[in-house]
Amino acid sequence: MQIIEQIYIDGAFVTPHGDEYFDLFNPATGQVIGRVRLADAEDARKAIAAAKRAFPTFSRTDKRERVAMLRRMHAAMVAKEDDLFEAIVEEYGAPVSRGRWMAQHASNVLLEAAKVLDDYAFVRSAGTAEVVMQPLGVAGLITPWNSDAGFICGKLAAALAAGCTAVVKPSEMSAMQTRIVTAALHEAGLPPGVFNIVTGRGETVGAQISSHPDVAKLSFTGSTAVGKAILRTAAETLKRVTLELGGKSPMIVLDDANFDEAVPLALQAGFMNSGQACIAGTRILVPQARLEEFEAKIVERVAEIQSGDPRDPRTSIGPMVSQKQWDRVQRYIRIGIDEGARLIAGGEGRPQGVDTGWFVRPTVFSHVKSDMTIAREEIFGPVLSIIAYHNTEDAIRIANDTPYGLQAYVCSSDAGRARAVAAQIEAGRVLVNTLAHEPAAPFGGFKQSGIGREYGTFGLEAFLEPKALLGVA
Ligand code: NAD
Repeated sequence: MQIIEQIYIDGAFVTPHGDEYFDLFNPATGQVIGRVRLADAEDARKAIAAAKRAFPTFSRTDKRERVAMLRRMHAAMVAKEDDLFEAIVEEYGAPVSRGRWMAQHASNVLLEAAKVLDDYAFVRSAGTAEVVMQPLGVAGLITPWNSDAGFICGKLAAALAAGCTAVVKPSEMSAMQTRIVTAALHEAGLPPGVFNIVTGRGETVGAQISSHPDVAKLSFTGSTAVGKAILRTAAETLKRVTLELGGKSPMIVLDDANFDEAVPLALQAGFMNSGQACIAGTRILVPQARLEEFEAKIVERVAEIQSGDPRDPRTSIGPMVSQKQWDRVQRYIRIGIDEGARLIAGGEGRPQGVDTGWFVRPTVFSHVKSDMTIAREEIFGPVLSIIAYHNTEDAIRIANDTPYGLQAYVCSSDAGRARAVAAQIEAGRVLVNTLAHEPAAPFGGFKQSGIGREYGTFGLEAFLEPKALLGVA
């Protein structure tokens, strides 16, 4: 049983003023494996004050100093990779191969930010004016549980690269992972107050950060509902806001696609991160004329997918993170059945032979209509919907028939056709015949999937404000 009783403020590990204890679970067993003492609003205010004190000096650091800091943070995270991997598997339930990728991703984002910063020009000209890109101030960074370390490090990397100081509010459900990240980043030896990490509830710590007048910038990843609440609160003090929210991403399988490639790609895109991924390709759009062929291959392949013990290397779908998340996914499977979609794989309950833990059967519905609940709402579990279309225009219309617009996938054996379709999709990223990530490219949503972009130069500029100087030339 791990008891976590410290938060990180002003360069030191301190006992929170908050005194609520929160249980931490192993989702593969449903057992309590730890407890975390949560920070409260007063702790959040102390962290904001520390970041505010650190800002004047830190914001004037030379970019080479900050590149060196990011490199030290990267090295410190690499040194803790194995501990972080263990915590990801234990506390989040990620299958081992995914868990290893997540642990490495958390350090990689720091190195990527160092590269972007290295190449970035903070001073440029516009007509006769000199334009200086200036750090915004104290940044509040609020992150979810589905990639705790990656989101903490990614947001911190961009904020610090820009010269902002930061207060991070991670999910209370990821305290073991956060403890390791915090210990690693402390080792990097940054000046006190430059970053602060306060684990607490969204309604208290998160709300305090979103409303505090000394916070200039918010970067939030999480649900669309909470994102909207944060935006409303932030309006009061006109904070700059970046929101990375939910998705209902389409996987558009064009009629010329090779199904031996498209089917595994669609299942990987749909079931990534055990289905708990905002970018999961959960709506699979298939040509009506080839629907049966596609369904047969899906059924064959899903039978080979193991949802179970995350430590078993054959597992590709781990447990849902919590009982609440398991209940939510079960509810959606029931809704799909009740609405008349055709269940072709999986279904309600746990996988065969599994009787504990928050495991879900990899589930695929076919004959789904675009107006059904399972095609419209984000399920955040391994539940996919196959929607048939008549022609390419129809496929594009269905793909865009969603309030979301985070990511989309196109599968085709004709690169030109795929590109033409991609051009008509309303999404922040469109992946053609690939699931590869490009860290230099912007990431973020159209429509209700969010506001703003992360990663690369766009992600850095989200923490900067242009200032024009006239008459100085
Ligand atoms: P959530 O929105 O409930 O919580 C996210 C974070 O916000 C947590 O740290 C939470 O404590 C905090 N929070 C909650 N209420 C708050 C409030 N009133 N004020 C300030 N902060 C508050 O989301 P979750 O359940 O942790 O994560 C799952 C959701 O996140 C899914 O909907 C998923 O799509 C989304 N998500 C999006 C992305 C993306 O990049 N677009 C990535 C991962 C997850």
